[in-house]
Amino acid sequence: MKLKHSPIRFDILTLFPEAFGDYFRQSILGKAQERNAIAIHIWNIRDYTTDKHRTADDVPYGGGAGMVMKAEPVLAALQDVLKKTARIPRADKKIILLSPAPKEFSQERAIRYANHRQIILICGRYEGIDERVTKFIDEKLSIGRYVLSGGELAAMVVVDAVSRMIPAVLGNATSLAEESYAPAQSGPTLEYPQYTRPAVLNVSGKKLRVPAILLSGDHKKIAEWRQKHTKTLK
Ligand code: SAM
Repeated sequence: MKLKHSPIRFDILTLFPEAFGDYFRQSILGKAQERNAIAIHIWNIRDYTTDKHRTADDVPYGGGAGMVMKAEPVLAALQDVLKKTARIPRADKKIILLSPAPKEFSQERAIRYANHRQIILICGRYEGIDERVTKFIDEKLSIGRYVLSGGELAAMVVVDAVSRMIPAVLGNATSLAEESYAPAQSGPTLEYPQYTRPAVLNVSGKKLRVPAILLSGDHKKIAEWRQKHTKTLK
């Protein structure tokens, strides 16, 4: 799959920047940043507050439980990121507000996002963000039909899945083509089962064997077995 742009720059706007550190430093995403295949920038929305208490939330108009994130610091952070990345044309940017919204994240959407040069992810907390912020975004995006405490986990999911769409990130185009949900004419698929050593696993008195064909060295038969065990989803 040929993408228009690489590397992709991710900008994450959050009240909890510490939530991201370890995950983004590990394994594939850590190496992808070292190789400049992706860049991840995290912005603390609280740095864009203007009062001495650094207030980023307030009570909801109309009453009710919880607090609402104020629009001004979120928009000030967004304007700053846009200004600092003005060299990237607006058409190559995607501004996403993480939200338990009807539009759900998927592999197709990850592929579409990977064709942008910059993805800006705004993380909500508390009861969400003042709705007026939506005037400045491209879309609200949910990662599933459940409510998280904040958008940070959702942002990590988006960064991870989109990054995997960049060939330089995985360093192995074949694994990308065979992966579950890879675009296929027959519709989305789930990858065949994988095994590693030992060939016989002794657990609780049971011997669990790797399918013999995978040990045969017969690449044609192995390919057929894998094809047979790749599930096409309805
Ligand atoms: N009061 C909101 C409601 O009932 O729809 C829930 C707000 S939630 C506790 C706080 C933040 O978490 C949201 O603003 C959003 O950024 C994030 N969030 C929660 N669930 C999410 C999901 N399924 N997908 C993406 N982001 C989510």
